[in-house]
Amino acid sequence: MKYVPQNFSKSIDSYQKAQQFIPGGVNSPVRAFKAVGGQPVFMEKGEGAFLYDIDGNRYVDYLGGWGSLILGHRHPRVILALEEALKKGTSFGTPTELETALAKEIVAAVPSIEMVRLVNSGTEATMSALRLARGYTGRNKIVKFEGCYHGHADFLLVKAGSGALTLGMPTSAGISPNIIAETIVVPYNDLITLNKVFTREGENIAAVIIEPVAGNMGVVLPQPGFLEGLRDLTRHYGALLIFDEVITGFRLAYGGAQEIYGIDPDLTCLGKIIGGGLPVGAYGGKCHIMEQVAPVGPVYQAGTLAGNPLAVAAGLATLRALKQPGIYDDLARKTKYIVSNLTCIIHEAKAEVTINHIGSMVTIFFTPVKVKDYQTACYSNTEKYARFFHRMLVQGIYLPPSQFETCFISLSHTEEQISQTIESFKKAIAFTGT
Ligand SMILES: *Cc1c(COP(=O)(O)O)cnc(C)c1O
Repeated sequence: MKYVPQNFSKSIDSYQKAQQFIPGGVNSPVRAFKAVGGQPVFMEKGEGAFLYDIDGNRYVDYLGGWGSLILGHRHPRVILALEEALKKGTSFGTPTELETALAKEIVAAVPSIEMVRLVNSGTEATMSALRLARGYTGRNKIVKFEGCYHGHADFLLVKAGSGALTLGMPTSAGISPNIIAETIVVPYNDLITLNKVFTREGENIAAVIIEPVAGNMGVVLPQPGFLEGLRDLTRHYGALLIFDEVITGFRLAYGGAQEIYGIDPDLTCLGKIIGGGLPVGAYGGKCHIMEQVAPVGPVYQAGTLAGNPLAVAAGLATLRALKQPGIYDDLARKTKYIVSNLTCIIHEAKAEVTINHIGSMVTIFFTPVKVKDYQTACYSNTEKYARFFHRMLVQGIYLPPSQFETCFISLSHTEEQISQTIESFKKAIAFTGT
């Protein structure tokens, strides 16, 4: 096993082959390293906080399955639960007791959720939650925030146009302008603009969807009063407030961001951690809203593999492991240790770098500006990030392959791995330039 990656020849070869059969060689675009240049690394296995590629290189992993693997790779409790589930079968297409157990666990954990429906991905969760919001309110418009990602449903693939109050431009080809016209995009942390939007068309707005802590433009925290203001406005106008906690659910606290900030959303979307590394999503909220979903109510939503026994077993094992006392303190302590060390290195090097962090989520922005929304995130020097990313990679540290993503610390990261990360960071910052 080589601890400092040197040879990527098998990855290079595999990438060539993959591109013949899969568009861009990847099943999700950001995996292709377009934002940082170079060739993606093909992984073979994970163990604890380590990833191992097909050339035999080893990395300390801060991608964490895009936030799914809060316990690290192959956690013994998750593996055991999967082995037990596997003995019984992979899919029944009928209700199972395991699904009720996971739903019960989610309801007990997340303050605002009284009932929950399991789906297969975060995208399905947000898409279904918005259908439900429209069905429940009888209104059509939705509000989202610039830089927030809620999966790839058509009406959510919008970022803001030139003016904050103009209708959004789609981020993708193949989306009907009619669909986009129902989506209003507002800058994150901007209550004034949100107020104007509601004054203008509050009666037509079915829901506001938000990442209560943004993780998809890099980590951006809600400013004091922002989430409270959002709750007040939506309540006043009878629009639903949807928290997309696909990243933050069971990540920032057992009850997610809503537990930390003390906000009571109408609906919450979950994913990532609740599948323990298998494909799962969920949406839940107040009973009187959730009971609008079929078969009880008129809002249709279904899934062949929804509540899949393997995924549910892995998710349940993960949640149970996270219930032990001190887990979130431990994650926060590790993260603070890393961040304070990196901050010292940044100061010494006089590097133009800003770190945003909360709980076990961290983004290293290559800008001296305080990042509080999408616009300020975009001040980041992405070329510097690309150089930094590759310099970390060749030192055996695997970061997300884009400036606008989140690094995840897991319970499996050891002191030794963290020290290696800090050492590597020092060299990478020196190399990247200030
Ligand atoms: C990852 C993510 C999604 C989409 O989840 P998928 O499982 O990739 O469909 C939605 N919202 C947020 C906040 C996410 O981070």
